[in-house]
Amino acid sequence: MAKAKTKYLPVKIKDRPEFKLAYWEIDSGKEGPVLLITAALHGIEVQGSEVIRRFCPIAEKKILKGRMILVPFANPPALWNRRAHIVSTLAHPKGKEIWDDERKIMRFDLRDNINCTWPGNPDGNEAEQVSHALYNGIVKQATHLVDMHCWNRFTVTAALADESPGTMELAKAAALPAISVRPATALTSPQRPMPPTLSYIFKTTGRVALDMEFSGQYIISENEVARGVRMLSNCSKHIGMFRGKPEGTEETVMILDVKMEKITVTAQTEGLFIENGLAPGDRVNKGEVLGTLFNDKNLRSTEVKSPAGGYLYAYGHYRRFCDADLADMHPYADKGDTLAIIVRPKGKK
Ligand SMILES: [Zn+2]
Repeated sequence: MAKAKTKYLPVKIKDRPEFKLAYWEIDSGKEGPVLLITAALHGIEVQGSEVIRRFCPIAEKKILKGRMILVPFANPPALWNRRAHIVSTLAHPKGKEIWDDERKIMRFDLRDNINCTWPGNPDGNEAEQVSHALYNGIVKQATHLVDMHCWNRFTVTAALADESPGTMELAKAAALPAISVRPATALTSPQRPMPPTLSYIFKTTGRVALDMEFSGQYIISENEVARGVRMLSNCSKHIGMFRGKPEGTEETVMILDVKMEKITVTAQTEGLFIENGLAPGDRVNKGEVLGTLFNDKNLRSTEVKSPAGGYLYAYGHYRRFCDADLADMHPYADKGDTLAIIVRPKGKK
């Protein structure tokens, strides 16, 4: 049996005390892939940290070849901040706002988001300095990547795929409820250049990477963790580092590509949206009751029914900043607000 070694990467951010980023390395002693598994690049996305903790002893037993590098806390200063980014605050949860001269709007400085900074910059901001240290100390040597993120709890757990070589196959092996497929041009579009995410760096250097999003930030849910552990075992099998075939691949119910359409269910009236016990990823039939709107002006109840059969991509009332502001998770909907998004094949009646 291989033994996981705890290793430490020294990281120095200017004007802050140096810290050591702890990670595990499992070496099979045989030639093979170097699989990097990362979690919590964003400080509020911690489900993958527990997934790695549980996966490590499994990997010690099952690794056949190559090495695994397991980084449960890839961005410790953001974790300590308990917010998405190192510099996030209550007033600026998504980082600093800057003036975009081209679009003539204020927008968030994407460079505060560590997953837009790869391979980092030793003279850059906090996020860029951390990604620089990680890139040179850990990332460079890897041949494969699984990078675990979390989005809001209202959206289905999904692998994010595109048409770069090997990505779709790895996403399918992951056996998550949904695979969201970016168009082939997304990686190379000059009009809308992709921010340099960790997986982007792999894909543009001929290495295979899987990006994924668990459902739920700030929390660790047993369901999601179990799904995540199976995903890592499945990916290890897919690239030949474990014996056997990926399990549960039939549980992927949504492949969100150009052949699918999203149908948005909106509130016919304002009111409290009371969910009906469904969850993102569930199948719904046309006419099925999704929940009830309880109107505060006339105390009437209105059932919200599904306009189509399909799968719930998103479910519940939430708004844009629900990953940072409790008010945006509030179940009170205005007329026209989104209550659910249903996915089904295009053109289906
Ligand atoms: Zn993230």
